[in-house]
Amino acid sequence: MKIGSVREIKAQEFRVGLTPAAAAEAVAHGHEVLIEAGAGAGAGFADSDYEAAGATIVADAETVFAQADMIVKVKEPQASERKMLREGQILFTYLHLAADEAQAKDLMASGATCIAYETVTAKDGTLPLLAPMSEVAGRLAPQMGAWTLQKANGGRGVLMGGVPGVAPAKVVVIGGGVVGTNAARVAAGMGADVTVLDKSLPRLRYLDDTFGGLFRTAYSSKAETEALVASADMVIGAVLIPGAAAPKLITREMLKTMKPGAAIVDVAIDQGGCAETSRATTHDDPVFEVDGVMHYCVANMPGAVARTSTLALSNATQPFLIALADKGWERACAEDPHLAAGLNVHAGMITHAAVAEALGLPL
Ligand code: NAD
Repeated sequence: MKIGSVREIKAQEFRVGLTPAAAAEAVAHGHEVLIEAGAGAGAGFADSDYEAAGATIVADAETVFAQADMIVKVKEPQASERKMLREGQILFTYLHLAADEAQAKDLMASGATCIAYETVTAKDGTLPLLAPMSEVAGRLAPQMGAWTLQKANGGRGVLMGGVPGVAPAKVVVIGGGVVGTNAARVAAGMGADVTVLDKSLPRLRYLDDTFGGLFRTAYSSKAETEALVASADMVIGAVLIPGAAAPKLITREMLKTMKPGAAIVDVAIDQGGCAETSRATTHDDPVFEVDGVMHYCVANMPGAVARTSTLALSNATQPFLIALADKGWERACAEDPHLAAGLNVHAGMITHAAVAEALGLPL
C-alpha cells in the first residue's frame, strides 16, 4: 500500500502523523511511504530522516493526496485538504466529527473511508489513541502552572518545591484519571505538596495503593473541593465525564476564597473547563486573570511539546496503521473490533452510532 503523510496546516499544529520510525516500520512491511517535504520539521524530523527510513519525499500535499492509498495525519483535514480526498482512500487521523457538521458532510461527499483516532477503543474500555495526549497534557500541566506562579507572569511568586525551611507549593488536582495522575506525579516530583480529588472510590483506591507516599487523595465533595481550592497555590482541572461538558467544580464565588496570584491550569478546557471563569486560550497568549487568580486554559496543550507528542502518538497509532496497511481496512476492522470502533465515515455514510446521533444523521 502507498501510505502518505502531509504537513499539518491547522494553525499552531507542529505535530506530524508519521515519524521516521513509523515510516521505516511500514517500509519493512513492504509498503511505500510518501512524505510531503518539510512535514516533520515542526516536530524536529528532517526530510533526510524520512529518506533514511526508506520514504520518498514529494514536493506538495497535492501529490501525496493524489497518490497515497492511505493518508495518516494528526488533525482533522482542513477544508482545502478535504477537497483532495477521494473515493477508496483511507484517512487515519483525529476527526472529532460530532461537533463539526461541515467536516462530516465533506468527508461523506469524498467517498473516503475515515478512521478517527479518538473513537478507537481498547479491551478495558479506554481510548488508546487519546491516552498519550492526556499523558502529555497531564505532565505538562504542573510545568505550565509553575511558570504561571512566577511573579513576572502574574503569579504569586511561589516555587513548586520550596527550599529547606520554606514550604512547597500546595497543588490540588481535580480528577485523578490519565491527565490527573500524570499531573500529580510530576507536581510531586517537583517537590510540591499534592492532593488529588476524584469522585470514583475505585480510582482513589488505585491512586492511594500506587502513589500513597507521593501524594494524598481526597473525595471530590463540594465541601472538600472548596476547602482544598481555598488553600491551594495551584489547581489543576482534569475531570472528564465522557460525552458531557466538564462539570463547573470551581465557581466564581470560590475564586474570592483563593490566594491572590494562585494559578488554575484548566486542562479540561477542551470540554468547556471545570472552572466557571475558564475560557480557551492559545500558546501565544495562554494566561488571563480573574479576581486575582491566574488562569492557564490552552485547549491544545500537547502542541507545545510537538516532538514528544508526535512520538507518543505514533507509538500508539503504529500497530493500527500497520494492520490497516497490511490487511486493508475491511479485514483489519473485521479482525479487530477496537479498530472497527474507529470507523467514522465510509461510502458516504456516517458509520459510528454516537457520531451519527450527535450530528442528527442516519447510520
Ligand atoms: P479520564 O477519563 O482518564 O479521567 C477523568 C477523571 O475525572 C476520572 O477519574 C473521573 O472519575 C474524574 N471525575 C469525574 N467527575 C469528577 C468530579 N466531579 N470530581 C472529581 N473527579 C471527577 O480523562 P483524562 O484523559 O484524564 O482527561 C481529562 C480532561 O483533560 C478531558 O476533558 C480531556 O479532554 C482533557 N484533555 C485536555 C488536553 C488539553 O490540551 N487541554 C489534552 C488532553 C486531554
